[in-house]
Amino acid sequence: MRHARVARSFVIGVAALALVLAAASAAPRQPKVAKEKQAVLDWLSRPETMEEFGRISDAVWGFAELGLQEFRSSALLADTLEKAGFKVERGLAGMPTCFVATYGSGKPVIGLLGEFDALPMLSQKGRVAKKEPVIEGAPGHGCGHNTMATAAASAAIAVKRAMDAFQLPGTIKVFGSPAEEIVASRPYMIRAGLFDGVDAVIDNHSSSGFATDYGVSGNALFSTIFTFKGKTAHSAGAPWVGRSALDAVELTNVAANFLREHLPLTHRLHYVILEGGEAPNVVPDRASVWYYVRNTDERLEEMYKRVVDCANAGALASGTELASARVLSAIHQRHANKAAAELIQTNIELVGMPAWSEEEQAFAKALQKELGVEEKGMPAEVGKLEAPSRTFVGGGSSDVGDVTLIAPTATITFPGQVPGAIGHHWSSVACNYGSLAWKGLNAGAKAIAASAIDLLTKPDVLAKLRREFEEYSKTHPYKPFLPADSEPPNDLNKELMERYRAALEKALAAEIK
Ligand SMILES: [Zn+2]
Repeated sequence: MRHARVARSFVIGVAALALVLAAASAAPRQPKVAKEKQAVLDWLSRPETMEEFGRISDAVWGFAELGLQEFRSSALLADTLEKAGFKVERGLAGMPTCFVATYGSGKPVIGLLGEFDALPMLSQKGRVAKKEPVIEGAPGHGCGHNTMATAAASAAIAVKRAMDAFQLPGTIKVFGSPAEEIVASRPYMIRAGLFDGVDAVIDNHSSSGFATDYGVSGNALFSTIFTFKGKTAHSAGAPWVGRSALDAVELTNVAANFLREHLPLTHRLHYVILEGGEAPNVVPDRASVWYYVRNTDERLEEMYKRVVDCANAGALASGTELASARVLSAIHQRHANKAAAELIQTNIELVGMPAWSEEEQAFAKALQKELGVEEKGMPAEVGKLEAPSRTFVGGGSSDVGDVTLIAPTATITFPGQVPGAIGHHWSSVACNYGSLAWKGLNAGAKAIAASAIDLLTKPDVLAKLRREFEEYSKTHPYKPFLPADSEPPNDLNKELMERYRAALEKALAAEIK
């Protein structure tokens, strides 16, 4: 890994010459790295640190636990922080797998976000460049969340060590955030007051590049299950007696699909049918459909109201009842803080892209070949900080969005995934295990820790983030989309996870990876 320490010793080695050259020409001088920052970079650079957190990431990858079922993953991460001296609170905001780990006291309070949930149906062997599931149909880490809370935890422990060594004031917190894939935890964590008093937040996400961004991105989202109640009947004997809840679901979907034409182009609208009856010869008296309704913050509520109208129309036309519209979660777009992104960018450039081995490059090229994309291997350069796109509409969503509206926040995307690997796909699961993931999350942890050190030690830097945030809040005050009566969907993935948990644990015990 090439970070500033190497460059610095070079400068010291030829100090006299460097000084002469720097004075004689306008050549850029190597920035001086503060001792607190150097300490976190040094600790994270130790092979044993890399290995410890690499193994944690691999373990979470192997557990492959779906949102709000991440019992082993959450416990492993929380225990690691507790052993390192953090005070850990578990089972927060109504979610058994949510935790907050805290070290230090008083201001400033710097928060790090960390996710650890997997995705359904993506099981895949690690570092195998063709589709080969560990357990057919089981969940897998197709978004790299196994590396993410791990990166945050290792960064936080590095920062804690520097706080001890240099008597730094302030508090560092890791927000163990379950169920990002169903965007389900952050609005509940905010509602429970877990982010109260936090001055700035550093988020992270696994990626193929090493970068950050600012401005508005992604989509706001309502995640809602519509459940209909009808009347059973013999489908052939006396169908006129029955009222089909499945009809209501189908009519809702027809109405919603007609609605698409008349929505602004920023929308995304999709659904899966969760329940649609058990057999054709019994008119189903219960059926349900799960919708993701996505749009900009400004357009979301109006669009959602129209989708609810579609569900009411489905009930009316089928003679059934819309028994419930259960909002599992509702979130905002991301509004990333520019001053935070600028700070993070300087630390990404300081840390630099990891050096990839020949074996890693060979795997990357084999995977790229299998996917039919350019065989260019792993990236060599970190990303540049660019102005947000003015034409970007839509895309995915993250519940980090709500956090960006309650504290200045930006995201570090760190490398490790092969360029061309597809998100939420077996190819991404294949990348997120082993040395690529270890190196990527380690580089991410360095950029997170270095940025946290800046925020803890440079009041003027933190003040800049806060000023921008407070100005922005005047026009974008946080008003949660999440209805006050919504509860975390702890039940949602329970059955699906239980179907695969034993088989996954058996594979782990047999070391099938
Ligand atoms: Zn993700």
